[in-house]
Amino acid sequence: MNILITGGAGFLGSHLSRRLLKAGHKVICIDNLITGSLFNIKDIKKDKNYKFIKHDITKPIEIKTKLDWVMHFASPASPKDYLEHPIKTLKVGTLGTHNCLGIAKAHKAKFFLASTSEVYGDPKISPQPEEYWGNVNSIGPRSCYDEAKRAAEALTFAYYRQHKIAIHVIRIFNTYGPNMRLEDGRVVSNFIVQALRGQSLTIYGKGNQTRSFCYVDDLVEGIIRYMKINYTGPVNLGSQFEFTVLELAKKVTELTQSKSKIKFAALPQDDPKQRRPDIRKAGKLLGWKPKITLNEGLQKTIIYFREKLH
Ligand code: UDP
Repeated sequence: MNILITGGAGFLGSHLSRRLLKAGHKVICIDNLITGSLFNIKDIKKDKNYKFIKHDITKPIEIKTKLDWVMHFASPASPKDYLEHPIKTLKVGTLGTHNCLGIAKAHKAKFFLASTSEVYGDPKISPQPEEYWGNVNSIGPRSCYDEAKRAAEALTFAYYRQHKIAIHVIRIFNTYGPNMRLEDGRVVSNFIVQALRGQSLTIYGKGNQTRSFCYVDDLVEGIIRYMKINYTGPVNLGSQFEFTVLELAKKVTELTQSKSKIKFAALPQDDPKQRRPDIRKAGKLLGWKPKITLNEGLQKTIIYFREKLH
């Protein structure tokens, strides 16, 4: 199949591209490299089945190759990044999604949206099932990401209803692994980099907020399985095991055998207090659940960051 992936040079996009190329597909990557990086695709960039186009998907583009899939993964996804680029984040979720849907429609291709657990905001129920409508502050600092993704979902479902295009929507919960940037700003990369550098681990707030961390290979496996069935979604993909940020800090310190201490800093506004997906739907539809434990996943990620820091 011919598969267009926006954000293909990003953390998730690069892992997904590699996996699709291995399965014999052709991948066209569109990325403007504001948070993506050529480093992430250096091993696949010369593959004859891979094409990289530097382009900002908020602007229209015509793709000549007949496409089977349009997969929209482009967006800053780390709070640090989307707080730095709030307008670009809103544009890629709205205008970017609209352009991708237009491409999918023109090609009669299937459309795949990478949405997020952030559509649930600071959730009032736990774990969060797909039926939950969320608790989002529409004007808060995180709204540029949350509302962009909510609009992206709404646009996707509007195209499905009005133009009958085939859609797939996933909501991705905290995912980590190699190819995250050193300065990405998310908790797993921050803690590992700080521990390896012997710096204090920065805990925002008291560290009792929770997240559920999924290793990237598990997430990609869920995406591949979902591509094989016809189901509009949304489908939650993430780990069912919930940890406090403080527990994560302790784990990272142990696994890196670091002497780093912990430093408490201010909790960012609207930081969700808890997050854990209800993944029963993914289990039933895809026979999927994450297999890699947090310890195993962290060890693999630590190896990656150790090499990067050398
Ligand atoms: N966090 C932290 N220290 C850091 C980075 C993040 O304590 O150096 C916290 C952050 O406040 C949040 C959680 O870790 O409660 C996860 O943050 P992340 O930026 O990874 O993504 P989020 O899940 O908030 O989108």
